[in-house]
Amino acid sequence: MTFTIGKLALIGVGLIGSSIAQAARRKGLVAQTSVATRRAETLEQARSIDLADSYHLDAGAAVQDADLVILCVPVGAIRGVMEEIAPRLKPGAILSDVGSVKGHVHRVLGPMVPEGVHFVPGHPMAGTEHSGPLAGFPELFENRWCILTPEPHVDREAVSRMCAFWRELGSDVELMSADHHDMVVAITSHVPHLVAYNIVGTVDDLETVSKSEVIKFSASGFRDFTRIAASDPVMWRDVFLTNRDAVLEMLGRFLEDLSVLQRAVRVGDGEALESLFTRTRAIRRSIIDAGQEIDAADFGRIQRMSGDREGEGGAT
Ligand code: NAP
Repeated sequence: MTFTIGKLALIGVGLIGSSIAQAARRKGLVAQTSVATRRAETLEQARSIDLADSYHLDAGAAVQDADLVILCVPVGAIRGVMEEIAPRLKPGAILSDVGSVKGHVHRVLGPMVPEGVHFVPGHPMAGTEHSGPLAGFPELFENRWCILTPEPHVDREAVSRMCAFWRELGSDVELMSADHHDMVVAITSHVPHLVAYNIVGTVDDLETVSKSEVIKFSASGFRDFTRIAASDPVMWRDVFLTNRDAVLEMLGRFLEDLSVLQRAVRVGDGEALESLFTRTRAIRRSIIDAGQEIDAADFGRIQRMSGDREGEGGAT
């Protein structure tokens, strides 16, 4: 049987909401899509690319009669959005989200979910450093992971429908607890972003190297960090405010390992350096083998920039 949804409501139509709307329509998964956003200007952008069947500035109106509601707003905005929509959610509807931190989403939204609504939080591990409706594209989720973190008591049928939804969008789906998810993304995504923000900030503050030299000589190392450090400031602020414990734990490990490297550089321990760099090269190889990156010269930057999308940096 083909998977379909009657009415899909997306609250937030930035990169992720827009990509979901486009992918769901392209795959013929939905009979009707309604979207809501905060600012009239963003709504107009969504309208300009014919993203949905109905457009709202009132999130409550958008979720009326919806079978599946997905919150696609920054994690720090979910409480306010939920206050608007909770009284209008249809009994039997599935409520989901795409937030990059899951423990916080469970703690905030869990107690607010009305009786009879199935709460299946999610996190598509796909993105770019671009924001807004015009940044969305329907292939965003293809061959990417989507992690779902429903509580064990949640209706199995609702969970399997969400799994089917993401698989139809092209993703591989995995279920795990919210706390485990937050630990995994702290080390695979959040700490790397913090490092990128920090290194770009440090270079910006340097007095011995002029800004024009930084731009002129930015070789692949620094340049790749700048791509990640161009990610949305509000979204990333919320990630670090809401995944504090896991990030601090992983950051502690990272700093310990950095001190070991610092010592190896200071004492000229070439063996230690080469041994680590050999291990890390093998990790990159396994990421390519797993289909999560391409093995192209210059990290595929040239091919990607000539297409209509850039690299996947910025994904949380
Ligand atoms: P985005 O492009 O910046 O879009 C954000 C959307 O949320 C816009 O529609 C915006 O509305 C709305 N919004 C922002 N603040 C709001 C508030 N305080 N109240 C109500 N609506 C608000 O963001 P995105 O990249 O799609 O990210 C959305 C969610 O996806 C975040 O939770 C993020 O953690 C998660 N995520 C992002 C990525 C990624 O790489 N970008 C990957 C996976 C998951 P207006 O424009 O009208 O203000």
